[in-house]
Amino acid sequence: MAPKDTRFQPISGMTTPRFAGMPTFMRLPYLAPGDRMIDDTDIAIVGVPFDGGTSNRPGPRHGPRQLRDLSTMIRTTHPRSGVNPFELMNCADLGDSPVNPIDLMESLDLITEFYAGLVSKNIMPMTAGGDHLISFPILRAVGAKRPVGMIHFDAHTDMNDTYFGDSRFTHGTPFRRAIEGGFLDPARTIQIGIRGVKYDVTDFDWALDQGVRIIEIEEFYDRGIASVMDEARSIVGDQPTYVSFDIDCIDPSFAPGTGTPEIGGFTTFEAQQLVRALDGLNLIGADLVEVSPPFDPSGGTAWVGVSIMFELLCVLAKSRSANHA
Ligand code: MN
Ligand code: MN
Repeated sequence: MAPKDTRFQPISGMTTPRFAGMPTFMRLPYLAPGDRMIDDTDIAIVGVPFDGGTSNRPGPRHGPRQLRDLSTMIRTTHPRSGVNPFELMNCADLGDSPVNPIDLMESLDLITEFYAGLVSKNIMPMTAGGDHLISFPILRAVGAKRPVGMIHFDAHTDMNDTYFGDSRFTHGTPFRRAIEGGFLDPARTIQIGIRGVKYDVTDFDWALDQGVRIIEIEEFYDRGIASVMDEARSIVGDQPTYVSFDIDCIDPSFAPGTGTPEIGGFTTFEAQQLVRALDGLNLIGADLVEVSPPFDPSGGTAWVGVSIMFELLCVLAKSRSANHA
């Protein structure tokens, strides 16, 4: 275990009320670009305030700010594993990736450049989106040296080819582009929770042809969490693995504040168990995407989002501390 670094501790709700002060992710220190503490950071929680890939109801560009606000509710210690990610690893809020809201292609380059900077400093990214297109420029950075595996929780495959004619970069296409680009290993990719009315079946057919494993929601409920996650763990093995969590994998009764809700999804309890089952894998980063504050007036969906972010942060910190070769 890394020694506890007092500079990287979140502000305690026992000393300063959790509703007071500036909302950073999990009440961690905010490190501006150039801050020397960045060199000692193990895990960066960062926002990508971009939803230019959204094909229908937008809003996730407002996700990072709302998620920061709700994340001040998070405490430090996992109720089951006992993990305190802030003692295990130096975690900090590194702010938001630069984006250009009126230039999609430039935004993809800006996001990749930002994450390439984290990769070059060996900092593991925990991302708050943003729509799901942002996973593509992140994978382009974290998978630049070799394709990575991925465990993907979503109602949708996001493996479509083009939208509106020949537009290739939308929140329905990131993983097809990542496989084509050689950043994502389809044989080590599993998608869990897939459901909903389809455009057609070409996204499924293409992904299956590449060797992607798709677990639709019916199979998930037939087999149960333990069986499905055992398979997920064997598919990604002990090699570097990214985790992408689309909030719409959760049932809209729990998380309605998202652009493309699909009924018949995970409960929040099931979502917690799914993330906890990632413990022990060789994880290299994670994202939580598609929280749309304009469709989330109560803040309830953002609260679900930051709760899942904390679950993810705990397994990331444990993986990072295990120091996989
Ligand atoms: Mn998605
Ligand atoms: Mn989705």
